[in-house]
Formats: sequence, C-alpha cells, structure tokens
Amino acid sequence: MSLPYAEPYKIKMVEQIYRSTQKEREQWIEEANFNLFNLRSEQVFIDLLTDSGTGAMSDKQWSAMMLGDESYAGASSYFKLKKAIKNILGFEYFLPTHQGRAAENVLFSTIIKEGDIVPGNSHFDTTKGHIEFRKAKAVDCTINEAFDTTLDFPFKGNIDINKLEAVLKKYPKERIPLIIVTITNNSSGGQPVSMENLKQVKIIANQYGIPVFFDSARFAENAYFIKMREKAHEHKSIKEIVKEMYSYADGMTMSSKKDAIVNMGGFIAMRSEKLFRDASVFNIMFEGYITYGGMSGRDMNALAQGLDEGTEFEVLEAGIKQVEYLGNKLIECGIPIQFPIGGHAVFIDAKRFLPQINKEEFIAQTVAVELYIVGGIRGVEIGTILADRDPETRENRYPGLELVRLAIPRRTYTNSHMDYVAAVCKKIFDTRHEAKHGLRIVEEAPIMRHFTVKLEKIK
Ligand SMILES: *Cc1c(COP(=O)(O)O)cnc(C)c1O
Repeated sequence: MSLPYAEPYKIKMVEQIYRSTQKEREQWIEEANFNLFNLRSEQVFIDLLTDSGTGAMSDKQWSAMMLGDESYAGASSYFKLKKAIKNILGFEYFLPTHQGRAAENVLFSTIIKEGDIVPGNSHFDTTKGHIEFRKAKAVDCTINEAFDTTLDFPFKGNIDINKLEAVLKKYPKERIPLIIVTITNNSSGGQPVSMENLKQVKIIANQYGIPVFFDSARFAENAYFIKMREKAHEHKSIKEIVKEMYSYADGMTMSSKKDAIVNMGGFIAMRSEKLFRDASVFNIMFEGYITYGGMSGRDMNALAQGLDEGTEFEVLEAGIKQVEYLGNKLIECGIPIQFPIGGHAVFIDAKRFLPQINKEEFIAQTVAVELYIVGGIRGVEIGTILADRDPETRENRYPGLELVRLAIPRRTYTNSHMDYVAAVCKKIFDTRHEAKHGLRIVEEAPIMRHFTVKLEKIK
C-alpha cells in the first residue's frame, strides 16, 4: 500500500486569524466599495488574494536575514545573491529591484519607446501597464487552447509560434525591443510553457534578431510542470530544468515574491554587459545603487536562500499538491474550474458559474464578492475589471476568460483551510440560480483600475 502524501516541513510559529460573521462582512464589503483590495486584512478569514509575498519563509531564510550586510555599496549580501542567480539561473549580470514591476520599470525605461510592439503570452497586468504607459503595444500570442477552460492541455501557457512569427514579420525589428515569455503564464490561469516552446521561441527570435526575456515570477513552478508533463525531462532535477529553460533567454525580470518565497524583492538579470550598463542608470534613479537597488541586505540574503529552496522538488511539490487538493475538492462539488489545475492557484470559471449574469456586470468580481460575504475568503478577479479599457477606444475589454483566482500562499494554510474554502464555494454554487445581477463601476483609475475601482451592486 502506498502511504498518503505529507508535507516535508513542520510549523514553528503561528499567527492568529479572526473568524468574522457574515453580517460583519456584508457591512465591510459595502464600505470597501465591493473591491476586495480595499478590505483590511483583519476583515479576511482566509486570504487567497495572492501568493505574492504572502508565503511563510523557512528557518534557513530567517537565519540568513540575521546575516544580512547592510552596507550601501558592495555588501556581501549582494554578492551572495549574485552567486545564486549565476548558479541557478545562469545570468552573469543582475540588478536588484524592490519587486517585479520595478524590474519592468527599469528594463522598459531602458529599451521600450513609444510605438513599439512587445509580443508575448498574455502579458501580466503590471507588465502590460508598463508597456502601455510608454505608449507601446503588448500583443498577445498565446495559443488558442488557453482560452478553453474545459480543455485538458498540458502547456496552455505556450506561445503560438505562427502568431509570433506573424508579428515579427509585420513590424520592423527596430520596433520590437523584446519578446516577453511569462513563465508560468499567470493571466491565462497559471499555465506552464513547455521547454520545447521556449526553445522554438528562441529559435524564431534569433532569426529576427529580437531578444527574449522571461517574466519569471513562477519559473520554478514552470520547471515542475515541465518535469511532470514533458517526457524528455522527467528524470531531470528542477535545477537542471531551470538551467535549460534560461539557456533560451537573453534576460529575465523577476518578482521574487512568488517562487523565491520572500515577502519583498525582485531583480533583472541579463547576459549583455551593455544592457546591464544602460539599465544601471535607471536602476540607480528609480531603485537604488546597483548593489542594493531597493532591497535591504537581509532581504537579498533571504532571496538567495529562497531561490535555492524554491527550486527543490520537495518544496515545490508541497505547494503544488495543496493547490491540487483544493482544485480536486471543487471538482467533486461540480464547480467549474480551469483545467488543468494551475500551480499556485485554482481558477473558478465565473462565466460557467453564473451564466445568467451579463458580461457588462463583471461576472468574476460578482463571484469573488460572494466568496467573501459567505465565507470571509478573499480571492481576486481575473476578468473584465483587470483587463481594463482599450487605451485607444476607452471601451471595456472583455477577455476570453472571466476567472476568480484563489491563490494559495506557500506553507501558510493547512488542508483544513482548503476544506473550508471548498465548502464555502459549494454553498454559493448550490444557490447560484438566485443571483440576478452583478456589479457596476462607480469610479475607476485610467490605468490598472482593479486596485482602486469602486463598485456597487446592481439592484
Ligand atoms: C507578480 C508578477 C509581476 C509583478 O511583480 P510584483 O512583485 O508584484 O511587482 C510581474 N509578472 C508576473 C508574471 C507576476 O506574477
């Protein structure tokens, strides 16, 4: 008989959480203008808003923090991180930044100009924001399979090579400063990109002379899925797979708050010394001197340790198995979720959950608000609100998918919490026919509106 799975860690410290009543939550969500970002964390029982910076660091990371070197220039913590990036990811040059979007800001300030075209696979919201802010255009070349949540396809994060080639053919090289491959593809449901696809992208990029950057927040998860789903790599270690993945990139931007399991931090890494020098100017301006750029020495130490731990199979497996556990519970209840289950989150397919609600009434946000009211669970909308308005027409963009993401912070909640989440989802799902209307926007920002948007219930 095979024994059941159990996590390869035990808990050394706990944090109390407040279990509120539905009545309290009904008042709080109204005061928060039906925007879950506006809630105080004490008003949330189980916080699945994001796994970004919300994971539990290990004892080794905490002890690395005590050894942080806070020197302004040339700190040992910088060299420790530099060594980890070289060893694990293979890049010679790097610039620390305070988080992932800061890495985008520095890199894009260096290479993107007005009118440029940036092909990729469902660019992440901050990535797209930073591209559009510079009056450049992000072109989505994700494979069509990604937009059918019922389809069980192993690498829904992949770039459609034909779509990519069409873009590279259409525009002159000078207008395409880079191709961005997001690993895993967050916006299409935490779906991985295959090694074969990464290789193909690099081959075609080389033909057209365009650099390839990986937006790398969940690179380790991507490597895990390559190991599990791509035959040629099943016997390789995560670290070997990671090394090969990055052999197909000229550089990367990183939000360390995800797969490096730290609370804050990011970086840009690259092969080109010239790009490193050009980007250093912006790093110093926006982030800090090149040997700390927005991070404390202790944070760089924790990050170096986190990169090493986060690329260990056992550590990855524990997190991914918990996501799978919740996903399977939801499937048992008949709740429509994105297939296959992603690595950091379960995505509820809101259009199939509430088919009677019009797309103009923000279907996924409506489901997310219900999850909060009924169970104190905070998920996040990945749908029309996040997709923002078209920068030219100012019309709402209706994405192919309306998802509610339930992201599971690493090493933070137990499977009893997951049972509770599943029970809340089921309770809402069982009475879903009673929902008549969704929400309408009362106030919104011109860009990245989802963080501050104010909504009201349509009566
Ligand atoms: C989180 C994330 C970012 C932005 O990083 P922050 O640390 O939140 O600024 C960019 N791209 C992807 C794919 C991400 O997941």
